[in-house]
Amino acid sequence: MTETNEQDMDRADRAPGQTEASGRRYILSAHAFSAPPLEPALYIVSTPIGNLGDITIRALETLAGASLIACEDTRVTGTLVQRFGLKAPLMPYHEHNADKQRPKILDLLSRGEPVALVSDAGTPLISDPGYRLVRDVVEAGHKVIPIPGASALLAGLVGAGLPSDTVLFAGFLPQKGGPKTARLKELGNIPATLVFYESPRRVGATLATMAEVLGGGREAAVARELTKRFETFERGTLESLAETFSGDAPKGEIVILIGPPGEQAPADAADAEVLLRLALETMPVSAAAKSVAKETGLDRNELYKQALEIKAGAESGT
Ligand code: SAM
Repeated sequence: MTETNEQDMDRADRAPGQTEASGRRYILSAHAFSAPPLEPALYIVSTPIGNLGDITIRALETLAGASLIACEDTRVTGTLVQRFGLKAPLMPYHEHNADKQRPKILDLLSRGEPVALVSDAGTPLISDPGYRLVRDVVEAGHKVIPIPGASALLAGLVGAGLPSDTVLFAGFLPQKGGPKTARLKELGNIPATLVFYESPRRVGATLATMAEVLGGGREAAVARELTKRFETFERGTLESLAETFSGDAPKGEIVILIGPPGEQAPADAADAEVLLRLALETMPVSAAAKSVAKETGLDRNELYKQALEIKAGAESGT
């Protein structure tokens, strides 16, 4: 890194592919540093999830040297670009224009230009756009270079106090009750810590559903506002966390983490009834009995009879 002591924070609106050596620089604490030239590739660049101090030197060098920065929202990335005195032009790349923009990125790469992809915050492709672009770039024979950094997934995981040897990142759950329950059932018995992103508006209801479907005693944590001023971790059982978040929606961004299934107490009739009622919301009686039998080890014929009673009760309104 060469310090050149430039103090200007202006942004040139150069066209893609016109990076000059003098433009390949970034500014930290009013000091300008020149960045080395980049080899042609698609660079997947992680950016901070709240605390700007989490930007890496390599991310700055890459963003400074790229001919184009593809980003979700040019206003959000514009703030970052401004903050670090970067000059590369920005191009919006999000789920609604990706098909139109991808050929432009491939064209730049085929002309030997380095292109960076960022998301609004954190690591691109992690519940953010970019997967199809990476696939197409690889298929076209170009290089993809990840520039790792912040992600709410890893920050939440390492602070949660839950086992971290086997981890399943499940992103956002479906919002509607039936599909949400079905997805949780799919994931519930996997021997891994589960990591979910969730909106603050839904966190209370989601924790309640998780407690109902996975069992209230399961160890979990809720990470909020990671890397920011009001960062907090709430740790406890799913039941206690559902209670903690049962009131007004909390402020800020949320990650929910659930520890692996432990030694489960044998299911009793009351557990079976809860599971049967949930299963009956999305499947017929025999399938519900089969699914709950598999989950609990209880007798399928007994569960079938119990499911028929629940269904008859529901239909008669009792
Ligand atoms: N690509 C990002 C990453 O690497 O973490 C995630 C993008 S996803 C669209 C946004 C979700 O990530 C938020 O709704 C929240 O669940 C989680 N998230 C992002 N920043 C966070 C933060 N500072 N604290 C807690 N959760 C965060």
